[in-house]
Amino acid sequence: MIEASGAGAKGHFGVYRNTFSFAREGPRAGPRRCRMPPAFMKRIAVLTSGGDAPGMNAAIRTVVRMGISEGWEVYGIRNGYAGLLEERLDPLGARDVGGILHRGGTVLGSARFPMWKDPDIRKQALANLLDHKIEGLIVIGGNGSQTGAWALAQMDFPVVGVASTIDNDLSCTEITIGVDTALNIALESIDRLRTTASSHKRAFVVEVMGRNCGYLALMAGLAGGAEAILVPEAKINPDDIGADLQGAWARGKQHALVVVAEGATPNAAGLLKHFEGSRGQLGFDLRATILGHVQRGGVPGAFDRLLATRLSAGAVERLRNGQYGCLVGLVGGEVQSTPLDVLMQTTKTIDFNLLKLARVLAV
Ligand code: ATP
Repeated sequence: MIEASGAGAKGHFGVYRNTFSFAREGPRAGPRRCRMPPAFMKRIAVLTSGGDAPGMNAAIRTVVRMGISEGWEVYGIRNGYAGLLEERLDPLGARDVGGILHRGGTVLGSARFPMWKDPDIRKQALANLLDHKIEGLIVIGGNGSQTGAWALAQMDFPVVGVASTIDNDLSCTEITIGVDTALNIALESIDRLRTTASSHKRAFVVEVMGRNCGYLALMAGLAGGAEAILVPEAKINPDDIGADLQGAWARGKQHALVVVAEGATPNAAGLLKHFEGSRGQLGFDLRATILGHVQRGGVPGAFDRLLATRLSAGAVERLRNGQYGCLVGLVGGEVQSTPLDVLMQTTKTIDFNLLKLARVLAV
């Protein structure tokens, strides 16, 4: 039987592995306690950072409305950490986050802001937070964003992270906000390509997003019935892919699909280049499609809206309870928090059994 194992519990799709081992919220590894009793907390802020992910708006809505129900003022920071430095923050009321639940992207805006790595920049941003009497911050974002949250937590500011990225490369959570929607968009494209591939006896190389993580490619390839899957986590000889395509042609297949993660070596362009002089020998006519950013912008599905709502509610609860310096994610199907210190020491990898299964099924 093929099943995920390892220290992490089986994920939403039953398909990930976390290479971490720790006592969550135990007496030693537990999250930091707030300097002030939570009852005195009056004002918090929320930001979205890194790549946008479908479901981020549901997360913002939850933070604002739950914060208000706690009797707090909630400020929205524009454009991630850049907005924190530039003091681009506004109070948000319940009506300000109305009608956004079903919208992709993030109404707060996001930014890649490498300057956040500079301690002096963070010191200035911290001073801005204190000037505005912000007493707690919720950071909705992926790996880089949570590293930034950790850096701020190191300065003893109360920060809670919410796991959100379409890449699903964040450890200490089985799944992140946006993955499910992005996966379904990739799958729909793969299904459409299969239809046209069958009509013309073609092979399509489909490149999906995921940076250096092969999760989306693996899942899209498995769910889409790909003949071959290339992920950054596994070394592949392009000639083996050629052999797979020749084999599929010889077995009478009408089409073939190769799903490639953007961070794989080779990627789609590299694979096409590799076969430049020998395309005639593959049997199929070979084409490539790069899905790119179309995967990001989709309307969040039910799963991502619910995940965003649950994780963000969990983040507000942590702040209320005086817990900070932690990431809120899904562990064993439950909303759990993990110290950011632990997150910084762990990495996530794919389930290689599923890669093997995909090969077995591509007969
Ligand atoms: P996604 O993977 O979905 O794009 P992400 O959060 O991983 O999301 P990044 O662009 O890697 O996206 O990081 C977002 C922001 O987090 C960066 O622009 C930067 O402001 C901050 N950040 C990233 N890495 C660090 C770091 N090592 N130290 C401090 N801040 C960081």
